[in-house]
Amino acid sequence: MNIRAQIAMVLNLDKCIGCHTCSVTCKNIWTNRKGVEYAWFNNVESKPGIGFPKEWENQEKWKGGWKKENGQLELRAGGRISKLVNIFANPDMPEIDDYYEPFDYDYPKLQNKPLSEAAPTARPLSQITGERMEKIQWGPNWEDDLAGEFESRSVDQNFKGIQKQIYKDFEKTFHMYLPRLCNHCLNPACVASCPSGAIYKRDEDGAVLIDQDRCRGWRMCVSACPYKKIYFNWESGKSEKCILCYPRIESGMPTACAESCVGRIRYMGVVLYDADRISDAAAVEGEKDLYNAQMDIFLDPNDPEVIRQAQEQGIPDTWLDAARRSPVYKMAIEWKIAFPLHPEYRTLPMMWYVPPLSPVQSQIDQGTLPTEADGCIPKAEALRFPVQYLANLLTAGDEKPIISALNRLLAMRSNQRSKAVEGTCNT
Ligand code: SF4
Ligand code: SF4
Repeated sequence: MNIRAQIAMVLNLDKCIGCHTCSVTCKNIWTNRKGVEYAWFNNVESKPGIGFPKEWENQEKWKGGWKKENGQLELRAGGRISKLVNIFANPDMPEIDDYYEPFDYDYPKLQNKPLSEAAPTARPLSQITGERMEKIQWGPNWEDDLAGEFESRSVDQNFKGIQKQIYKDFEKTFHMYLPRLCNHCLNPACVASCPSGAIYKRDEDGAVLIDQDRCRGWRMCVSACPYKKIYFNWESGKSEKCILCYPRIESGMPTACAESCVGRIRYMGVVLYDADRISDAAAVEGEKDLYNAQMDIFLDPNDPEVIRQAQEQGIPDTWLDAARRSPVYKMAIEWKIAFPLHPEYRTLPMMWYVPPLSPVQSQIDQGTLPTEADGCIPKAEALRFPVQYLANLLTAGDEKPIISALNRLLAMRSNQRSKAVEGTCNT
């Protein structure tokens, strides 16, 4: 075993209220500068929806992540050399309109203007036409406000395999927020794609970083990252990304997004894994087997043999202790209620998500919570999202782990509520 420690995060999607505090805090610390105005190392997007940058999940369009080709694992957009040959064709990168064009209010002008007599009139989107319309009609969180008016959600890749009528109904009624940051992957496509060798994964904590002195601005990493979490700084001519707040981590503090999170949805912790098993886990044949195969590389921090070998290999006791107490280990690996985002991109992402449950309360009151007689399958009408949608998002389409997690979450919620009622009666 080649044991490594990784700092990871679990995000509980049921608790995210879409306040964007995490994104703003991160921006104020790391990208409040010229050249990266458009960049959000952390963003919170609405789902179902097109995301930020637009359609980032469409790997055929952006050529991100890994694919299995002739039994080999290859970067979807080709290796470093073929991409270098193509650099002048500027391949596979989002443009500024795919992010959004930031603007500043002209405050002095605004403040010195006389009061207007005319009430502002919103220009209906239907009056904007042509190519400009195509480009601007979606912004990072537009789906919140459109109430199903646009078909924009139908480009969301996670509808694969869902009957059109079902998603038409639920997309108009429900949405969730999906906070996203660099996944500090175990098999990072950005590292593999960089011709300058400027991107690296730190041994100490697994943070994936860009050496600004070595970056030559090729932007292969922008294409290769399937999560589109690398941003080109037009002022410095170098690529930039989330640094897992490593200066904060090194002084014993959580990342800024975790510390400032209003919904308290983020849990940070250490996981141990066997680095020798990464390439096999990333190269598993069938997509639906990927989630389970990727889970096999993680190690039990309570296993005395794991501890012995980890100590022999120089992992400090403080890290082993952190792994034993890690909520990420508990939720993602032991309880299996948190999942990686799109494991089929084969980068082994280290940000894990608890799927949203939020059954409609009236359905619970009517007794549609799953029972053993139902085979413990959550009833579709009691859930906020079709299981298939969540499976496409989190387990490469495998519904079983999602159903099992939702049942655990339902059971946990029922248990807590019954305790609360008992508590009330007893007082
Ligand atoms: Fe690299 Fe982060 Fe993208 Fe993973 S999510 S490929 S570590 S930039
Ligand atoms: Fe969601 Fe927390 Fe970010 Fe608010 S601060 S948007 S609750 S992740």
